Amino acid sequence: MIKYIGNSASGGLAVGKIKVINRRITGFKRVVLATHREKALFEAAIILAKDELRRLMQTGEKRQKDILNFQLVMLDDIGLKEMIESNINAGSGAAKSVEIAMEEYCNQLKSIADGYLSERTSDIRDVLGRVVDILDGHSRERFVLTEPSVIVADEILPSDLASIDRQFALGFITVGGSYQSHANIIARTMGIPSVCGMDSEILNPLNNGRTVCLEGYSGEVYISPNEGTIALFTHRMKQEERARVSMMALKEKEIVMPCGDKLEIWANCNDPKDITLAINNGAQGIGLVRSEILFMKSDRPTFESQLEFYSRCINAAGGKPVTIRTFDIGADKPVGDISLEKEPNPALGMRGIRLIHKHRQLFATQAQALYIAADRCGPINVMLPMVTVEKDVTDYMEMAREIKEELLSTGQISEDKITWGLMIETPSAALISDRLAKMVSFFSIGTNDLTQYTLAADRVNVETAAYYDPLHPSVMKLIEITVNNALKEGVKVSVCGESAADATCAKAYAALGVRCLSMAQNAMIPVKQHLLEEYR
Ligand code: PEP
Ligand code: MG
Repeated sequence: MIKYIGNSASGGLAVGKIKVINRRITGFKRVVLATHREKALFEAAIILAKDELRRLMQTGEKRQKDILNFQLVMLDDIGLKEMIESNINAGSGAAKSVEIAMEEYCNQLKSIADGYLSERTSDIRDVLGRVVDILDGHSRERFVLTEPSVIVADEILPSDLASIDRQFALGFITVGGSYQSHANIIARTMGIPSVCGMDSEILNPLNNGRTVCLEGYSGEVYISPNEGTIALFTHRMKQEERARVSMMALKEKEIVMPCGDKLEIWANCNDPKDITLAINNGAQGIGLVRSEILFMKSDRPTFESQLEFYSRCINAAGGKPVTIRTFDIGADKPVGDISLEKEPNPALGMRGIRLIHKHRQLFATQAQALYIAADRCGPINVMLPMVTVEKDVTDYMEMAREIKEELLSTGQISEDKITWGLMIETPSAALISDRLAKMVSFFSIGTNDLTQYTLAADRVNVETAAYYDPLHPSVMKLIEITVNNALKEGVKVSVCGESAADATCAKAYAALGVRCLSMAQNAMIPVKQHLLEEYR
């Protein structure tokens, strides 16, 4: 039996067989090796990229298959290969050489009068980006599970979780990632135990098929456990199930604070199935549906697929309030051709509402689908993420107003059933919350990002975890400012960051005047139990 200790990222216990998924083929962070080695890495990356494309072709639609076919041909393009190899000969590493050649090649194509070729630069950027990602150790290939497994990987991407068959994912053990990374947030909403920050030794392929006991609360992992350890875990899992059933008695109980105010518990959900579960477990509303999850299920959600998704979300809530967040693409949730250009500091880059200027149509289609879904199925709350300046909000709201008028005048909707809100998740938004409160009806405080941006501590970096403290006075001061400004303007305010599921934080937010907390659905009852005891 070998014991490892990592960091807890999602509570729960699991016992099962390991599946190692190691997408880090170089292990080197852009260290330039001898020319012949860089060439060999490049050749290997081309082979892997082709394999990925062929696998994608097996499931893609006709239009997607055409693009993938074109991309496969590009990987054999002699001119392009020569460009890359000459860059390697000149001393650049393989990944850098591909990036330089990509720019050169796309610029050449753009200057050619042939419209067809110049329009294909984004497909070329996409496929060469895939090669670079493989060389950098971030292959885009999605996980495929065919039997119940505990996944051991260098990193899990949010898109992996969207494609994973929940019944087969017993737990996650990763070398990278952190408690606040989006993949782990989603793992928590799915109730899958997860441990991160593990020694990279765990990626040893010999671990494949070995039994593992995973302790999501403490971060302990036992590989090839002895019989006693397996028996202990199995016993605890049964106990947990029993405790869960008995706690369900609390689900209908209301939390009344000593001042007489009620404190509501809402849920953060990924999809309609999650919403149904949350409502059945006593959620008084749905405080956050991360709509960008749609990009993790397909390459570019259409108007129709969005209309269907939002309608199902509203119906699943059965009349309880539902809050859908507009696309929060960027940072650790990059999306294909939208976040194509590599940014030096993605968390400080083009993310969330900031993309409205460059991708207006994307947001317009989403707003249309939201208006129509609300008109047909019932009212919704819609909120904008990554707000830092008023102008992004006014630009979005102006676009939404135009869309609404068009839909009303053409009879596509009979009424406006959207209530608008903002995520307060940057220090700037908190500091100008007096002005923002005049623009919308509700605020939702995103403590995951508010903590990261206030303390300058990357939420996905294990090394900065000690600086990442949602209870730090600087973060609390910004929350206090936001709550006071909201209450002054009669704007509703809730907290939907992960810290809402921490009993100590929850109490601190309630003390500041927050009366609604939104969290992963499986955290609702334990938090409720703590708060009921506190306010008894
Ligand atoms: C947050 O930042 O607190 C939040 C809820 O949004 P996300 O985790 O999706 O960035
Ligand atoms: Mg956020």
